[in-house]
Amino acid sequence: MKTANKTVTAERLVRDALEKAKYFADYNIFTFLNEEEAIKKAREIDAKIARGEKVGRLAGVPYALKDNFLSPEGQTTAASHILEGFVSPITATAVEKLEAEGAIMIGRTNMDAFAHGSSTENSYFGPTHNACDKERVAGGSSGGSAVAVALDIVEFATGTDTGGSIRQPASFNGVYGLKPTYGTISRYGVVAMASSTDCIGFFTKTPDDMNLLMEIASGQDEKDLTTLPDYYGKTKAKKATKIGIIKDFDNDSVHPEIRKALQNKIELLKSKGYEIVDLEMPALKYALAAYYIIVPAEVASNLSRYDGVRYGFRSEKSENLDALYKNTRGEGFMPENKRRIMIGNFVLSSGFYDAYFLKAAKARTLIVQEYAKAFEKCDFILSPVTPNPAFKLGEKTSDPVTMYLEDAMTVPLNLAGVPGLTIPAGKTDDGVALGLQLIGPRRSDKNLIEFSKELA
Ligand code: GLN
Repeated sequence: MKTANKTVTAERLVRDALEKAKYFADYNIFTFLNEEEAIKKAREIDAKIARGEKVGRLAGVPYALKDNFLSPEGQTTAASHILEGFVSPITATAVEKLEAEGAIMIGRTNMDAFAHGSSTENSYFGPTHNACDKERVAGGSSGGSAVAVALDIVEFATGTDTGGSIRQPASFNGVYGLKPTYGTISRYGVVAMASSTDCIGFFTKTPDDMNLLMEIASGQDEKDLTTLPDYYGKTKAKKATKIGIIKDFDNDSVHPEIRKALQNKIELLKSKGYEIVDLEMPALKYALAAYYIIVPAEVASNLSRYDGVRYGFRSEKSENLDALYKNTRGEGFMPENKRRIMIGNFVLSSGFYDAYFLKAAKARTLIVQEYAKAFEKCDFILSPVTPNPAFKLGEKTSDPVTMYLEDAMTVPLNLAGVPGLTIPAGKTDDGVALGLQLIGPRRSDKNLIEFSKELA
């Protein structure tokens, strides 16, 4: 990662990034550009460097912030209408840690509103375009962040991954994207989607950059009681020898070019002396159904706070309080947000709780156990990220279920809380980026990142 020094100033790095962001304006990557503040902060860092003072490990590094991270710079809208006008009084822990090391946020990135989606087409601000092919989706929900890194506008970008929102857009745009072990990075100050699967992570161009960001951002936080005691920096290096391949994903529902990319990496691993282990993981087939019950249930709860009274947008039309709630939520949420609120309240309702939510929770336990069994047989798993490469804009918007099906290989990790790292794995014949996903046991994040260098 290029940091500022006496010859290359932070102001230069930040101005270059802002210029590139404007040059690529038609990709619709940013919901906000932080010009004034970013340049002011860059000058402060340059002044420190000139005085010979110590600066942080990310001094002057421009980065992009997904629009669901709270900070007082710009509005935090989570790409929704209902949060329009909301300027946060607080700063997310992850943002504080990055900025304490000198990183400078140059803009907020576009996303599916409230992170509900797999293509960034559910954004109130319109879709982001894929870095390789403008006719295609950027992936989602962190589409803007992935494209900002892929087009080399910034050195890194933040993301959130509840069911694939970092790994899938990383794969669609050809960059590294990490969903850490659940609880590794504080969720404090990040707009909640599904609290039991939400993870904070990053998009980078190299594994070393990912490691550096994890060193900085991970750790226990008293403001997020689900954070794990600090383990990342203390991880002992462990040499992997056995790599698992999920046989259940080896079939015609996976695009031939993705299967070919996987096969190429398997050959590479074999040539380096790794043992390839075939895994049967039948419980993974329940993951998508369980996810689309558990997550909407948590979404319905987390989104109940947006009522037109406390944050952002308020409908003009209302003559009494009930109407104010209804109209604000009706006008302020995107259709996908509403769909999830309705499904969530349905599966939690007294007559259906046992039939849906409880059953999904049991399936989740099976999935957790399935990974535990798999990691008795291998050190890491190599898998596709999605069944298909980036699809065309508009191709799946009319049918939510076909969109959900693209998440089948990413959501199991979130249900189990295990880490997953998307690595770039070439391009299709049409020039669309392909990625693969490395999966490890809980808390193996650092070794997983290190191991990914074997596949570069
Ligand atoms: N695509 C998945 C969904 O729509 C994942 C979203 C996410 O990780 N935020 O739920």
